[in-house]
Amino acid sequence: MSREDMHKLQGIRLKKTVAMVYNNCEPYRKRMQEKGVTPADIQSIADIAKLPFTSKKDLRDYYPYGLLSSPISDIVRIHASSGTTGKPIVAGYTRNDLDIWGEVGARCFTAYGLTKNDVIQVSYGYGLFTGGLGAHGAGETLGATVIPMSSGNTEKQIMLMHDLGAVALACTPSYALYLADAMADSKIPRNEFKLKVGAFGAEPWTEGMRKELEEKLGIKAYDIYGLTEIIGPGVGHECQFQNGTHLCEDHFYPEIVNPETGEPLPHGEVGELVFSTITKTGMPLLRFRTRDLTRLIYEPCECGRTSVRMDRILGRCDDMLIIRGVNVFPSQVETVICEIPELEPHYLLVVDRINNLDSFEVQVEVKEAFYSDEINKVMDLRKRITHRLQSVLGISPDVRLVEPRSIERSQGKAKRVIDKRKFK
Ligand code: ADP
Ligand code: ZN
Repeated sequence: MSREDMHKLQGIRLKKTVAMVYNNCEPYRKRMQEKGVTPADIQSIADIAKLPFTSKKDLRDYYPYGLLSSPISDIVRIHASSGTTGKPIVAGYTRNDLDIWGEVGARCFTAYGLTKNDVIQVSYGYGLFTGGLGAHGAGETLGATVIPMSSGNTEKQIMLMHDLGAVALACTPSYALYLADAMADSKIPRNEFKLKVGAFGAEPWTEGMRKELEEKLGIKAYDIYGLTEIIGPGVGHECQFQNGTHLCEDHFYPEIVNPETGEPLPHGEVGELVFSTITKTGMPLLRFRTRDLTRLIYEPCECGRTSVRMDRILGRCDDMLIIRGVNVFPSQVETVICEIPELEPHYLLVVDRINNLDSFEVQVEVKEAFYSDEINKVMDLRKRITHRLQSVLGISPDVRLVEPRSIERSQGKAKRVIDKRKFK
């Protein structure tokens, strides 16, 4: 679809959505009235800038059902995201929304080259988290054979992946790493597995991590992006060229804004990703601030898809650590670690404040083959890592090399930061 046609379609859909939330959802109506905007002011997609933002805080304030635009009798599914403190964030989906979800999810799997003839193992957790049921619905909409494995029970995962001939594995990148080790331990030769494709998402991951996963699992590893408030996994997906995550912008209209001021940023700049759902009916959200940092790419993709792409998520605004005044994202550390051949991609950042000074430790596992008690070798490796991290981050961490398999593994979203300052 040409940009112009896409904008036309988005405008029509936005208009409908705005009228819907204005008529059916009190908080939206109030907020729009406060801003002096009526549905009549929204005539094209460019008018979106007139609308108020929605934030995670709004979802907490109107917990659990206050932001629904459909009666509860039309809501057929509830999901919730963990949130960091207190009440979770709850989302309600109508039949229409589940159909959209299946559709965008099936687009993802199709973009990875999967068809109805393939077996897909879903190892995202099933439950309130959108990962499991989201990937499940995507696979079924495609017509593929879905194994609703959920996370955990690793030995059985490997057995069924092998016995049922799973071609695709859908899970978090950190759980995929865990499963890669388990596959190696299982002693079943790699060529007896049919696995070719990974659908990895739900947490930030880097190009370095992609390389690790592709090598360890012998697959192509694709990004899938989504968030509970918007729909779940399927908001965006990579294609075979793996150069940006295509967003399903005919359903979810993206903007990039300055995370401090909310001002829209020019094309190509890094900022906070904002989505408006333009087809959902259960809990449509206008200009929802995701807290995710990335940039949008409007140039056409080699694959022929004309949808806008986003760059890798650098991290969440909330994940950004400020250590001795310097901004640090865990993904920057991951990039460095994945570049150093002696290291495993398992790491943990520990931040503390001691005598009014921030301490910053990076724990990282050394590969079995390089794990040595020769002091010189260890010192040399530590020095190299410290130096590289210092030049990328702008501050120097204490690097602690730890034994292979000693850092706690994750079966869902990895926890890579312990910030002890928060408890002081
Ligand atoms: P929670 O906020 O509890 O983690 P969700 O499960 O809804 O709830 O998570 C959505 C968030 O997960 C996104 O806003 C983003 O930060 C992260 N995420 C999801 N998919 C990806 C991805 N492919 N790359 C990077 N981050 C992702
Ligand atoms: Zn593409």
